[in-house]
Amino acid sequence: MHVRNTAYHIMRTFDDTYRHKGLRRQLVDTIKQKGITDERVLEAILNIPRHFFMDLAFDTIAYEDRAFPIGEGQTISQPYTVAYQTQLLEVKPFEKVLEIGTGSAYQAIVLAEIGAHVYTIERQKKLFEINKDFPYLKRYPSLKFFYGDGFEGLPTYAPFDKVIVTAAAPFIPPKLIAQLKTGGKMVIPVGTGNVQRMLRLTKLADGGTTEEAFDNFSFVPMLGGRNSE
Ligand code: SAH
Repeated sequence: MHVRNTAYHIMRTFDDTYRHKGLRRQLVDTIKQKGITDERVLEAILNIPRHFFMDLAFDTIAYEDRAFPIGEGQTISQPYTVAYQTQLLEVKPFEKVLEIGTGSAYQAIVLAEIGAHVYTIERQKKLFEINKDFPYLKRYPSLKFFYGDGFEGLPTYAPFDKVIVTAAAPFIPPKLIAQLKTGGKMVIPVGTGNVQRMLRLTKLADGGTTEEAFDNFSFVPMLGGRNSE
């Protein structure tokens, strides 16, 4: 089945063939070799048809371990990066997770597939709207989409067990720390240049945090405010 979204000039396929499944198995092997060990993360990547999240033009290359454009100057993150952040987040079923930067919604679905209750925010109106019309996402009733500024988080739904930021943050947004439970964790790439350092913060009972630093990555920037164009 091919679905054309005429409002946004994108065409998607919702056929998941043996070929796609075979390519997914290879992708899982690749990210295992790069060091991902969390079985739930690997299982989610194996189960989710990543090509559903991209324009039909990318159908044959959707399972390469790289980022791809999704419109509005944004990208669907590299599978290794999605797996890396998800592994660091140590998500368990039924946890409340806040994601900043919905983009294609692929990362959000990986979290939902693991069983998390996901609240995801996107600042670009068009990307938010595209996801509203994406039939595959209806399989995940525990996944909720918001149009807004991730620097503000979602105070109405706080506190969260986990927070994941999928855009390059110029600094650690204080409101996101405030919306974490005690003992909760936030995984966030921080930096203003071309590369950012992946950090994991753990919230302490006194409201402070401990910080662990991991590898460098390259994300699109986390920008303030909403974009309604
Ligand atoms: N998680 C996405 C990655 C998308 S790239 C995926 O799996 O495909 C990062 C996304 O963050 C972009 O869509 C960008 O528009 C969005 N973004 C950037 N700054 C933001 C902010 N302040 N609040 C919410 N979303 C933001």
